[in-house]
Amino acid sequence: MSHEYEHVDVPETGSTIGVDENDELVVPDDPIVPIIHGDGIGTDVGPAAQRVLDAAAEATGREINWMRVYAGESAREKYGENLPADTVEAMKEFRVSIKGPLTTPVGAGFRSLNVALRKKLDLYANVRPTYHLDGVPSPVTDPAAMDMVNFRENTEDVYAGIEFEAGTDEVQQVREFIEGEMGFDSTIHDGPVGIGIKPITEFGTKRLVRRAIEYAIENDRDSVTIVHKGNIMKFTEGTFRDWGYEVAAEEFAEETIDEDTLWEEYDGDAPEDVVVVKDRIADNMLQQILTRTEQYDVLAMPNLNGDYLSDAAGAQIGGLGIAPGANLGDGRVLAEPVHGSAPKYAGQDKVNPSAMILSGRLMLEQLGWEDAALLVRDAVEAQISSGEVTYDIERQIDGGEKLATSEFADGVIEHIERLA
Ligand code: NAP
Repeated sequence: MSHEYEHVDVPETGSTIGVDENDELVVPDDPIVPIIHGDGIGTDVGPAAQRVLDAAAEATGREINWMRVYAGESAREKYGENLPADTVEAMKEFRVSIKGPLTTPVGAGFRSLNVALRKKLDLYANVRPTYHLDGVPSPVTDPAAMDMVNFRENTEDVYAGIEFEAGTDEVQQVREFIEGEMGFDSTIHDGPVGIGIKPITEFGTKRLVRRAIEYAIENDRDSVTIVHKGNIMKFTEGTFRDWGYEVAAEEFAEETIDEDTLWEEYDGDAPEDVVVVKDRIADNMLQQILTRTEQYDVLAMPNLNGDYLSDAAGAQIGGLGIAPGANLGDGRVLAEPVHGSAPKYAGQDKVNPSAMILSGRLMLEQLGWEDAALLVRDAVEAQISSGEVTYDIERQIDGGEKLATSEFADGVIEHIERLA
């Protein structure tokens, strides 16, 4: 360990995950993995997922050495601060971590700890695979048509945190600059105004789209769709689209083809082993995922579009109780479910741990433990198909049996032991 940790629970055994010269993870069979259980229902789903991942590691001859680290409510209780420096340090040193949800107050109060963690660890790509598991109820007629992987830019756009509050000197200065120096003199209504800035950089865009294209190539996916609102926000979202096509053309000329060329030269029939790069306007895309689901595969999106679209896509395959996610940087991974801390259910051993467990599956994939990852997926699917499920699924199916969070996890572990 390169650091004297005071504000984490250091495990007694375990090895450190490293990287090679290409920032690819080098993973021992007994890695130390930091975990934040999280606020609210994090206290239920965090321990449940931890037990399931232990079972999958054991069934495949490995061992995860958990390092409990703290953020949010648990960190305030134990150490009197929201995000101890040791938590960030541990996530940097041990490279692959998993977290439950953390509460963010609306309006006043501290800024999002989730956003802070993603920034401090430079986790620039939020990845949300969206696929249907047998037995999961869905509001659409053909949920299995959806098999998408959403890449959402994680560090900029309106999430950059450059905001000025109504009534402050700062917002007045920004207003005077925009109206006086930049000439937008009758654009902002009179009276109090809040102003936010939306930076979209070439650097941020290209590394996100590059990652999405690399993923599509490595996983034999057919297309990457750039989702933007460039018809209105020409110099931010429009440029996101242009830079996205630029990466494809300059860095993946052999492996990709853009949609125009596809139609002009191949009559819409893509050559084998080539990834089609296309773009769609964000509002249209929200209906396309419902009406032409099977035409979309990997999506690359600026931060806000990615946020909206992945929740909407998640609803089609069963909702927040199921939807997993991971944040990726160069040689760094932080897996986390899409859902929040649902405070009204906190500590009731009630909610669905599948999203956190399947985020763990993503983590195992990133470790290169494909066999363990597949076991977790199949075991969750088997448990849900049995009809013994948590309240969110039970209320949507006929003849189901309602289980507590911990009982559901017990069932998944039994399936892992049976399937291994
Ligand atoms: P939420 O916590 O995701 O909960 C919204 C609703 O989604 C719940 O009331 C519940 O619906 C359903 N749900 C969420 N997780 C579930 C699970 N595991 N099993 C079953 N149902 C589940 O969203 P929110 O109420 O908007 O946000 C609460 C807090 O979480 C906020 O402070 C927010 O900032 C934070 N948040 C954190 C993260 C993160 O840490 N990455 C992400 C999003 C939000 P029903 O009541 O209809 O059953």
